[in-house]
Amino acid sequence: MSAVIICPRCGSSGCVIPAEEVLESISSMYAACQSCAPDPLISKQLPFYQLDQPVRNVDDAAMRCQNCGKRHLDIVIAHVLGILVREGLRGKDASLSDVGTPMITIGYPVPFPPRLGRDMLILVMDAIDRGTAEMLVNEVSEVKGVIERNGEPGQPVGILDADHTPHTYNLLAGCDVRGDVVSSAFGELCIYKTQSDTHIEFSRAESGKIGVLESLYYQRKLEGVVVDGCCGAGTLGLVAVLAGAREVILNDAFRPAVKNTILNIKANASVLGLDPEPEIHTDPSKLPLIADTGTPRLVATAHGDGASGHVDISVYHSDLADLATVIDRCDLCLVDAFIDVSTARFVQAWKERAGIVVTI
Ligand SMILES: [Zn+2]
Ligand SMILES: [Zn+2]
Repeated sequence: MSAVIICPRCGSSGCVIPAEEVLESISSMYAACQSCAPDPLISKQLPFYQLDQPVRNVDDAAMRCQNCGKRHLDIVIAHVLGILVREGLRGKDASLSDVGTPMITIGYPVPFPPRLGRDMLILVMDAIDRGTAEMLVNEVSEVKGVIERNGEPGQPVGILDADHTPHTYNLLAGCDVRGDVVSSAFGELCIYKTQSDTHIEFSRAESGKIGVLESLYYQRKLEGVVVDGCCGAGTLGLVAVLAGAREVILNDAFRPAVKNTILNIKANASVLGLDPEPEIHTDPSKLPLIADTGTPRLVATAHGDGASGHVDISVYHSDLADLATVIDRCDLCLVDAFIDVSTARFVQAWKERAGIVVTI
């Protein structure tokens, strides 16, 4: 019996599924059943007015499998496009590719076009308003949330460092919490994130980072005390727990990252062999958006007797250079900052305390 996890964004209990349940069902989550209609073969570039009449007029009941209740991704996007055209936010010459970026709620390299059920899609869109976003969530049952993009598509979401204003997208309607299945040589996790304030990581970039951890493991550098310095949603630090690290310290200067990390400790507790509830030392909702300089805060701790022995986890909200003043010694410090951020200050602060500092 898995613990029920309350979604930190929408407050519902069905939103964040414990990782072990996700991993059990992921291979069939997006698959067609035997009764599903074949792929509709809709060109993503075809103007709306040239789509077949039933596709143009699709409503929530139409073109849905009577058996499994799912619809093909392209049908869902056509339904969304129909509403955008109706509301005047897209012209009749707009195509499926003009809707936005569809993100499945549990990211996984699906080797076929996904079939979607209720709340399985989050849309990242340009040219969208709150009223229409609410219509999409209410009228299209697959749509769980609508996020409005800010800035250029490639601009990273989150904070660069404590001196910069964070760059975030806007959650216009619904809930933006989604997970990604992270695969490593040590096993799999499901890492959840509030997507409107978390950088969208493409799985290639993510697997490159996991590859760095795997090679550290084979050099026996992942056994002792590991600091995941810019932990984001906690991916690398929690993979280090899977790999058998004795102690893992997760830190981020950005409050949403700290909240997501705590959520991921809960969601992956059973996979990681942790006690189900982490101990909270500072109410995360009372933290400043960006950690004040000079005041590293211990937010949560978790413990467990995982497959590879006892592990202690702590979660801090701090500037990474400041964190070095409260951590005695670590064997490995991982610095996974955004590409255009100078990591020299962090490396300088940690080179005395850490056996090795690895920038990823
Ligand atoms: Zn939610
Ligand atoms: Zn079906």
